[in-house]
Amino acid sequence: MKISNPLEKIKPAVRGLRAYALSPDRASVKLNQNESPWDASEAIKRETLRRMDERAWSRYPDFVPAALHEKLAGFAGWSPEGIIAGNGSNELIQALLMVTVGEGRRVLISEPTFALYRQLTTVLGGEVLSVPLDAGLGFDAAALLASVKESDPEVTIICSPNNPTGCRMANDELETLLEASRGIVVVDEAYFEFSGETVVPLLERHRNLAVFRTFSKAMSLAALRVGYLLAAPELAREVGKAILPYNLNAFSQAAAEVCVELYETELAPVVRRIVAERERLYTELQSVRELAPVASRANFMVVRSTLEPKRVFKELLRRDILIRDVSGYPMLGEYFRVSVGTPRENDRLIAGLREIFV
Ligand code: PMP
Repeated sequence: MKISNPLEKIKPAVRGLRAYALSPDRASVKLNQNESPWDASEAIKRETLRRMDERAWSRYPDFVPAALHEKLAGFAGWSPEGIIAGNGSNELIQALLMVTVGEGRRVLISEPTFALYRQLTTVLGGEVLSVPLDAGLGFDAAALLASVKESDPEVTIICSPNNPTGCRMANDELETLLEASRGIVVVDEAYFEFSGETVVPLLERHRNLAVFRTFSKAMSLAALRVGYLLAAPELAREVGKAILPYNLNAFSQAAAEVCVELYETELAPVVRRIVAERERLYTELQSVRELAPVASRANFMVVRSTLEPKRVFKELLRRDILIRDVSGYPMLGEYFRVSVGTPRENDRLIAGLREIFV
């Protein structure tokens, strides 16, 4: 029998990809994943557990989590027929790309951005078209518009606010892009709560817009994996065809419902605290001569450093602080990223950086 290498059966484009990986390091000040530094509140946990206590665990979750869709409709200001909740927004991004991308299909992104868009497009056999951010690490709306007109991509993905740079595309610029696009325009609003702005009002006028959101950031629910999609009902129905039945487990569904119900009292004040801390952190980092933080609309920011980002990462880890080295991203060779922590965590970070950059 011939000896064969099974890896030769993997699509060449996939073989050429680097796996999406995260450093396994641990530290008591964890500022590497843009999570909420404040855990879900006692009120949220207690009410979720009470509801789960009353429910039969032997029974499947709802086929369609209609109660959650209704609550999300009220929260987001969109109709429940155009909403799909899922097992993290990653799952929904994957589903949308599964129903749109294949051989000969193009996906336009603006880089540096969340690595998953490029990864999934490549795995699915599509082609990534990339427009760089501008020199100030903001969106280059004119270049994106030109690329849409020239290449007519099936999908354009705008991460806004953008991970990892924190820039947001203004709604009028996005609207110009929507009007010029024959394809679907996805806006990943994973961090919209920290920006105070949303593109949801544009959904009514633009049937080619799809908005993704997550419970992993402002909603303090990263461990439970909940995300949702907002789009015209006919578009949502097509994306739904790529989603596995019972994708959202009953526990996560209950917790997400409780978060939406208690948002104003339990979560909105936390978002305000994080935004205030972001501004304080920005000002403090600006005062370190060797550092140049980039203003952000999210709960994190990238910081340019005269010292190699890898060294900064190691030095902070020695001080029990974990950040993200983003120097491998395009344009970000001199940058690291920090999530906004609690005031005490941010103080630790600032003190650590002042020690490193004496
Ligand atoms: N979109 C962006 C821009 C993100 O940064 C993240 C989390 N890193 C996600 C989506 C994934 O969110 P979820 O946990 O809901 O899958």
